[in-house]
Amino acid sequence: MKKCSFCTKEAIYFRSYSGKRFCRKCYIKSIESNVTHTITKYRMFTPNDRIAIAVSGGKDSLSLLYILNKIEKKFPKSELIAITIDEGISKYRSEAVQFADEQCQALKIEHYTYSFKELFGYDLDDIVKTSESRGKLTSCSYCGILRRKALNLAAKNVYASKLATGHNLDDEVQSMVMNLLRGDIDQMRRMGSVLDGKRSGFVERVKPLCHLPEKDVAFYAYLKEIRFQSISCPYMETSMRSDVRRFLDYLEAKHAGIKFNIFQTFEKIEDKLGRGELKNKINQCTICHEPTSGKTCRSCNIILSLGLELQKPKLS
Ligand code: SF4
Ligand SMILES: [Zn+2]
Ligand SMILES: [Zn+2]
Repeated sequence: MKKCSFCTKEAIYFRSYSGKRFCRKCYIKSIESNVTHTITKYRMFTPNDRIAIAVSGGKDSLSLLYILNKIEKKFPKSELIAITIDEGISKYRSEAVQFADEQCQALKIEHYTYSFKELFGYDLDDIVKTSESRGKLTSCSYCGILRRKALNLAAKNVYASKLATGHNLDDEVQSMVMNLLRGDIDQMRRMGSVLDGKRSGFVERVKPLCHLPEKDVAFYAYLKEIRFQSISCPYMETSMRSDVRRFLDYLEAKHAGIKFNIFQTFEKIEDKLGRGELKNKINQCTICHEPTSGKTCRSCNIILSLGLELQKPKLS
């Protein structure tokens, strides 16, 4: 029997990048402490924040919901609300929305769902279908651009002061490498664990799981018996992210800790690139009046580029 590195109990998990073994209790404690430490390090919250958690119904966002709910109890003046964006992906998103709903009810957290259809007039399935003949982007690019705007609209609609997302270390490192491969310097400057703070029209976005590998979050969700959606999005394999994920997983298996190294290196690069300069470049989209760095926002641009009619968001 191998022992936990922190107590005398039997170990059930080995973390290769740190060389430490964990029993159940010490493992759960390590994950929750990691999140607390990340929140403190990046000063993600203040005691009076009204925090909207973006809950997709997957393991990351539901684990985040659970952990923030626990942390929030120590801050009686703060509030938690959950928001889910239903992109309109048939045979996929409805199950995830149900898991999100169940978990929010169990934790007594208000839960609001907003759909692409209500916000933009189209499901992602409609957009992907139209893009087959006229589009230039991948399904995930359309989805990502619209979801980012949808989350900001939703967070403003529930009067949130912060928007917390479940991006883990793997998500962050994949995005960093993708931006590098595309040579997208502007996007690299828009990355980070705390985003859009003090930029007019945006709710500040924070990523409390950014120092946790996906595998670690999945094991936490398993130990906590959190029910989450395990099937993958039908569009996932069309994305560059899937190739980058496989590449990074291959490297990590051979060189434990390489994802952390990449994350830390990119944080230094992002600082050198001057994230702060973006604060001065926010305009209002001339079409939808939402914030943008150009004249019109990316979401209005992609809908127009597909020859679709722009619609006003239906927010209740
Ligand atoms: S895999 Fe792509 S299309 Fe599917 S939910 Fe994620 S970003 Fe959207
Ligand atoms: Zn232990
Ligand atoms: Zn716009």
